[in-house]
Formats: sequence, structure tokens, C-alpha cells
Amino acid sequence: MKARIAEVFESVQGEGLYLGEKQIFVRFFNCNLSCVYCDTKLDRFMEYEPHELFDEIKLYRDKYHSVSFTGGEPLLYKDFLKEILKLTSKHGHKHYLETNGTLFFELEEIIDRIDIVAMDLKFPSSSGMGNLWPMHKKFLKVAVKKEVFLKAIICQATLEEDLREALGLIKEISPSSVLVLQPNSYENQPVLNEKLSRFKEIANQQKVTTCVIPQMHKIVGLR
Ligand code: SF4
Repeated sequence: MKARIAEVFESVQGEGLYLGEKQIFVRFFNCNLSCVYCDTKLDRFMEYEPHELFDEIKLYRDKYHSVSFTGGEPLLYKDFLKEILKLTSKHGHKHYLETNGTLFFELEEIIDRIDIVAMDLKFPSSSGMGNLWPMHKKFLKVAVKKEVFLKAIICQATLEEDLREALGLIKEISPSSVLVLQPNSYENQPVLNEKLSRFKEIANQQKVTTCVIPQMHKIVGLR
């Protein structure tokens, strides 16, 4: 069984609650979505068997917080993930899954071996992906078995009704989870800052913990 993998590398986490943690990144090729703000332009990949990827991961000998499975969308390769997660578990690695939060059947099959789920929420008003709330809801119900935090890109186009939908989802399924608001790095920051403070105020009223964390890898030029 092979997976298409765009790159394997070490770096520090550039976004979310584990910002700054040193990780081994495995970036899977391809995605089931096509968000308007996507800047993950993958045009090359290599095919790996699980044991080949494991051999490559073993070459990284420093101390790492975890192995980050990212993309694209890693859950497109759930059968491959099942195998590689068995191998890396034996090796004592923690597993961090970076996902767009839609493939809930696939998550169900591997959640036992995942430690941290970094789940995107695709707001219809800014992602251009239409209504993914039913999928996000089913996904979060599975993800909540492990540590999970959520992330949403905030653009000038983002509507308050999407934030309210997200807050409702979190309150219903995983009230202790944090929502990370990520200003779109390519838009006018002062305009976004105003919107972000208003969004934080709404979240406070709803008693959902949010924080504003920019995508630092884009700002400081990390991979
Ligand atoms: S889910 Fe992520 S990788 Fe996929 S299209 Fe959207 S931003 Fe790009």
C-alpha cells in the first residue's frame, strides 16, 4: 500500500496551540477540498510504503514534540496512516494530525492512535467551500475522544454568522476546546484586527475560549 507524500522534513510548528514546537512533518499530497485561500500548492510527490516512510522518520534523531501528519489532507490515506501510526507508536512518537475536519469515517478508524487533532473549520463565507457544518459536526464528535483544538481562517469576507455557528458547535460537542482565529496573512491586517476583536468579544459572551494566533510560518518564512 502506497501513499503520495509531498515532503518529509523537520521544522517548528507555525500555527495553532503548539506554535513553536519542534516536529517531524509528513506532508501528504492532495486534498478533498479547494479553499479559496489555499496556498498549499503541491505539484510533486513521492510514493512511499509505510515501512519506507518509517525508515525516513527514523533518520531524524533530535528530540521532537511529535510527528505532524499534514497536507493536503492526510486522512485521504487512512489505510496507509493505520500502518505508519503502528510503526511510529512503537518508536515512542506522539502523533499530531492536521486536518480540514471533514473525513469523519476515516478519522474514526485511526483516532485511537492520534494524540492531538488540529482541526480546521471551513467558514462558508471565507473558504468558498459551501456548507460543511454537518461534516464538521460529525468529525468533531470523533475528534473529541482525544485532545482537539480548532482553527479558522478569518478574512475580510468572513461573516459573523459563521463564527456563531462555530461557537455553537464547540459548545455543543467539545466545550473545553479552544478556537484559534487565524487572520488571513494576505489581507489588510488593521481591517482584520477590528473584526478579530469583535469576534473575540462574541466568543467571550458565549464562553468559548478563543485566541488570535497568526500563521507564523508565513510571516517568518518557515516551511
Ligand atoms: S483544506 Fe487546506 S490544503 Fe485543502 S484546499 Fe483547503 S487550505 Fe488547501
